[in-house]
Amino acid sequence: MDDFILTHLASELSVFGDVEILPRVDVPESAHRPRRGQYLASDLKELTASFPHDKVLGVVDVDIYEGSNRFVFGLADVKGRSAIISLNRLKGDAETFKQRAAKEALHELGHTFGLRHCQDRSCVMTFSKSLADTDAKQKDYCQFCALRLRTAGVFP
Ligand SMILES: [Zn+2]
Ligand SMILES: [Zn+2]
Repeated sequence: MDDFILTHLASELSVFGDVEILPRVDVPESAHRPRRGQYLASDLKELTASFPHDKVLGVVDVDIYEGSNRFVFGLADVKGRSAIISLNRLKGDAETFKQRAAKEALHELGHTFGLRHCQDRSCVMTFSKSLADTDAKQKDYCQFCALRLRTAGVFP
């Protein structure tokens, strides 16, 4: 796993306070779906549950999916503690890779703070079906989502 990405994520997520980033989560065979050549995201998300931080973000390299989605970039519970992102489909040149990873991490953490998907395609909380969606959105919460985070006491 690329350490510069983890360093970048740590700095991007520092605004959230007690968020633990778990790099190189030990990916269990039980989450593997060999016929798809992928891992079930919800199984991997569970791995982060035992850590004593307010929020825990697992970062994996394997390709993940959930439900009827061909793949997902990440998964989190709304108002939950744990989230997971996969770097598998986010690679590009260093700057692009950093931006994509930060967007998907901010997106999943936004869910843990109670945000749902946003209709604003430039908001980081819009759902990314494809890398084009990820590249098209900003690394920021729209005014509406940011206000909800402030109201929830996440941001000062
Ligand atoms: Zn989402
Ligand atoms: Zn929004």
